Amino acid sequence: MNFHILTLFPEMVIQGMNTSIIGRASQAGLLKVNAVDIRDYSENKHHNVDDYPYGGGAGMLMQAQPVYRAWESVTAQIGRKPRCVYVTPQGRTFTQQMAKELAVEDELILLCGHYEGIDERVLEEIVTDYISIGDYVLTGGELPAMVIIDAVSRMVPGVLGNQESGSAESFEGNLLEYPQYSRPEEWRGKKVPQVLLSGHHKNIEIWRRQQAILRTRERRPDLLEKAVLTSQEQEWLAQQDSFG
Ligand code: SAM
Repeated sequence: MNFHILTLFPEMVIQGMNTSIIGRASQAGLLKVNAVDIRDYSENKHHNVDDYPYGGGAGMLMQAQPVYRAWESVTAQIGRKPRCVYVTPQGRTFTQQMAKELAVEDELILLCGHYEGIDERVLEEIVTDYISIGDYVLTGGELPAMVIIDAVSRMVPGVLGNQESGSAESFEGNLLEYPQYSRPEEWRGKKVPQVLLSGHHKNIEIWRRQQAILRTRERRPDLLEKAVLTSQEQEWLAQQDSFG
């Protein structure tokens, strides 16, 4: 999968995406992160890309033309117009489900704003999706773009060493993941739950599912409302309440 990031800070994105699992996947040719410097597409001899907003107000706005030309350079290179995500606090909040949907694309353009944002006219022209990473305002779109690339990349076959490791994670079936433990069996007086040492796979599976349900109820009750529980699980959960 190829990610094309339109940005004023390409070095930030390249450095951020060069390590660990994503870096390895890029080296293995499973992913490519292409950072396009919007400043290279300024038609101004000082390479300016921003100007004052019409109507007044604080701050500067990224101008339409350099953004458009940067986008055109990508679409010309790949010969079509792929989905183009503008990362913005005004977008739909990013979720694991959205990451899955984006992972089916071969090519994806991510547009990063800076300053007060970007001239609306170019957004109308090139953007297909408006995505926010949460209800807060950051200084630029580079971190949100990296968040999206990281989450999407993990869905690309082969990126995670073992595909299984993605399948039981938080948000699958609207549940958070169960607690996990590694060696030693006892640490500062805290013991690993006995069932995990039993080697009894069925019991371990049941315990993990129950823990996932309890954890989700405690930390994200809004998610649990969307989870599908068996009637046995519902009864078990009701019993947890009556046992206090
Ligand atoms: N004036 C804009 C507004 O009120 O909607 C905010 C501009 S923000 C300071 C600069 C850039 O950071 C945005 O254009 C966007 O690309 C990025 N950004 C900031 N917060 C974000 C968020 N929560 N999710 C995604 N992108 C964000």
